[in-house]
Amino acid sequence: MKSVDAHLAEVLATIRPLAPLEMELERALGTTLAEDVSSPVPLPPFDNSAMDGYAVRSADLAGIPVTLPVVDDVAAGSGELRAVGPGHTVRIMTGAPVPPGADAVVPVEWTDGGTASVVINRGAAAGNAIRRAGEDVQAGEIVLKSGTVIGPTQLGILAGVGRRRVWVRPRPRVVVIATGAELVEPGTTLGPGQIWDSNSYTLAAAVRHAGGESFRVGIVGDDPVDFLDQLDAQLVRADLVITSGGVSMGAYEPVKEALSPLGTVRFERVAMQPGMPQGFGVVGEDHVPIFALPGNPVSSFVSFVLFVEPALRKMKGLPVAPHTLTRATTVGPLRSPEGRRSYLRGVLSSDGTVAPVHGQGSHQLAALATANSLIVVPEDVTELPAGTVVEVLPL
Ligand code: AMP
Ligand code: MG
Repeated sequence: MKSVDAHLAEVLATIRPLAPLEMELERALGTTLAEDVSSPVPLPPFDNSAMDGYAVRSADLAGIPVTLPVVDDVAAGSGELRAVGPGHTVRIMTGAPVPPGADAVVPVEWTDGGTASVVINRGAAAGNAIRRAGEDVQAGEIVLKSGTVIGPTQLGILAGVGRRRVWVRPRPRVVVIATGAELVEPGTTLGPGQIWDSNSYTLAAAVRHAGGESFRVGIVGDDPVDFLDQLDAQLVRADLVITSGGVSMGAYEPVKEALSPLGTVRFERVAMQPGMPQGFGVVGEDHVPIFALPGNPVSSFVSFVLFVEPALRKMKGLPVAPHTLTRATTVGPLRSPEGRRSYLRGVLSSDGTVAPVHGQGSHQLAALATANSLIVVPEDVTELPAGTVVEVLPL
């Protein structure tokens, strides 16, 4: 059997970062910046007022309280500015350019708020309530580096430096295909022997969670020819394909039957539980990577976490580091098969304990849904009593 680490290494050796493309800002959320972005101008571009108030020469405030005539009004966006002469003031709003001559802003709260003339009750030093040009960013300064994931605030600064389009590595487009003659869509009535397809929902959501775009393809039965037809039809829009089911040792294993003859997808036994049967390789002219995951719901999800998620990170141009494990004390005994690394479902608490959930079968989707972590039991360990410190992978 192949080790989990060897399988991941082989996956990552095949996966390539997606090529950068230029994208409209509106679509760039969740992508990875593929250029260093600098600002063409200083930010703020000009000295402006931090408060609503009065632009003054600070020297005029020596004998507080003082009364000054108000000679102009500057709103944010004003282009034409009248200079503030000695003994005068200009009413100014937040974000409005500071007029020439003025060296401080007196907040309206320190005055009587007058419009023709104003009584100022408190002195202000030079520079008071003025936001200086370039205080945030100098002209030509890099504001975001290549490799940054674009979240809401990163989108904000891209717009803030005037960009409409940016070079990014896009969110990987992932096609998810569930196979199984027993599967029907949720929302329909179950016939004898049927179950509702849950894997394609879990996997498509996990892809989105991991920063990809997912497309759920309708259920494919257990006919390898149908499966290949569907796969062919979907490849045009796929940077990656994930299938579930049809890869184990039984009869009616459409994914294995269809892909094995291609010679570009390997089906192997990986030393883990759940998720022992794994298929991985490339398909189509463009060598699109494909993960053929086992059908049991817990198996396909754990496989996603261990292998697909790192692959998506690499496709997005992000560094792939080993999963960060934490340590916790198990409150229940654990069992694991000899020679396989187990990923048991657990509830990790803030008190440093982890409780294995009831129902550790690889079909027990409800139990999985109550877990927030995977308890990792090494290959050479078969039993651990309650009270043991174990390694845990938070989900
Ligand atoms: P397979 O890998 O196709 O042999 O499927 C293994 C087990 O997982 C069987 O009990 C299937 O019914 C179940 N299974 C396969 N695909 C799905 C799916 N999309 N949703 C829920 N259960 C599934
Ligand atoms: Mg099946």
